[in-house]
Amino acid sequence: MTSFLIRGAAAIMTGLPGAAARHEGPDLRVRDGIIEAMGRLAPEPGERVVDAGGCVVYPAWVNTHHHLFQSLLKGDAAGIGLTLTPWLAATPYRFRARFDERLFRLAARIGLVELLRSGCGTVADHNYLYYPGMDFDTSAILFEEAEALGMRFVLCRGGATRTRQLEADLPGALRPESLDAMLDDVGRLVAAYHDPAPDAMRRVAMAPTTALFSLATEEVRQTAAHARSLGIRLHTHLSETVGYQDSARAMHGCSPVEFMARHDWLGSDVWFAHLVKLDEEEIRLLGITGTGVAHCPQSNGRLGSGIAPVRALEDAGVAVSIGVDGAASNEAADMISETHAAWLMQRSRGGERAKPTYAGGREEGGAAHASVEDVVRWGTTGGARVLGLDGVAGLRPGACADIAVYSLDDPRYFGLHDVAIAPVASGGRPVLEWLFVGGHVRVERDRIPGLDLAALGAEARQATRELLAAG
Ligand SMILES: [Zn+2]
Repeated sequence: MTSFLIRGAAAIMTGLPGAAARHEGPDLRVRDGIIEAMGRLAPEPGERVVDAGGCVVYPAWVNTHHHLFQSLLKGDAAGIGLTLTPWLAATPYRFRARFDERLFRLAARIGLVELLRSGCGTVADHNYLYYPGMDFDTSAILFEEAEALGMRFVLCRGGATRTRQLEADLPGALRPESLDAMLDDVGRLVAAYHDPAPDAMRRVAMAPTTALFSLATEEVRQTAAHARSLGIRLHTHLSETVGYQDSARAMHGCSPVEFMARHDWLGSDVWFAHLVKLDEEEIRLLGITGTGVAHCPQSNGRLGSGIAPVRALEDAGVAVSIGVDGAASNEAADMISETHAAWLMQRSRGGERAKPTYAGGREEGGAAHASVEDVVRWGTTGGARVLGLDGVAGLRPGACADIAVYSLDDPRYFGLHDVAIAPVASGGRPVLEWLFVGGHVRVERDRIPGLDLAALGAEARQATRELLAAG
């Protein structure tokens, strides 16, 4: 079914800017996987009708930063109270050597299913499980699992050519690659999977795990040049905590963003995860180059890193998107809770920085720093923009039919004056009546066709026991 009429929506959010952020609808026609028309539309003879009465219609979410293998590492007791650097050692790096093909595939499936059931149609996964001599292909597994669920998938091919520890002390799964091996594998993946089409289901990006630490200095520019020669985008972690500022200053005598600028790593084909800790000049540099950000408020909150200055970034010209980040630092790696957090935390940031007027303050708080319309735009068309998926263009005629239909038949939403804001403003996960990706049904009445959720839960519990026993 790729042609149908969505009929009678209570409200429509489009993901578009300004006055176009909402559409009166109440109907939306899809033909051959593309939105053909929106407005008051009568069914055509034989046309399939999707009843959206009492429902709110959003574009499917676009998640621009994740580490799917961490979906089996939620709430690890050893890392729950730690900040980024000790947490990396306590949780993801402690467990990553335990992942074989079976556990990796299971973790990827759990993460994708969680996202899909929140109304997410596109996922960019920053996968860094690559090491010399590994005997399974994590890239292939991720593409296979995303394809089985019918989601658009961008593989951000991570990895490192150096570590801060002595290589001889490390187990094989933590050893770095050579730069040649990394670049050769990116080339292989582009040839095998990368589709440059605006409505692609599969893309590849060059994504050394944390360019500031994972590469030798001279290699940073080489990765950028190689990506651009292949026509793919660039992604990495940057400025997640004050630790990045200290390290860049100590190693290179400059800010983290200035370091990336010196090595050709800014531009509209680059997006960074986090960007929490920035000075004014860094914000200006990011803005004038049209660089993108994957804002990950729940992970930044969970690790106590801070709240990214998203309002200032967007005003400066940065392309803003939303990422859930790995579930080892975000126990709810779905786009509904993530966007709810983005809405609240941007406003809180404004309030946190408010000063009394006698000390030069100009506003009482930050309620104007993020509207629900802003957050929906960041989480949908903003994400498609940083990924370069120009066909995933929100809810408007000509765009791909990536559409989420939420039911508000729950006491949580009773009494709500403006139902359009419900999925973001009220928090919690609404029932997902329908999710379409390219016009294909991916979720129907909260169920993923062909998926045995109880069996997946049993497998997850067994795998968690195994990981805990292995320590
Ligand atoms: Zn991350």
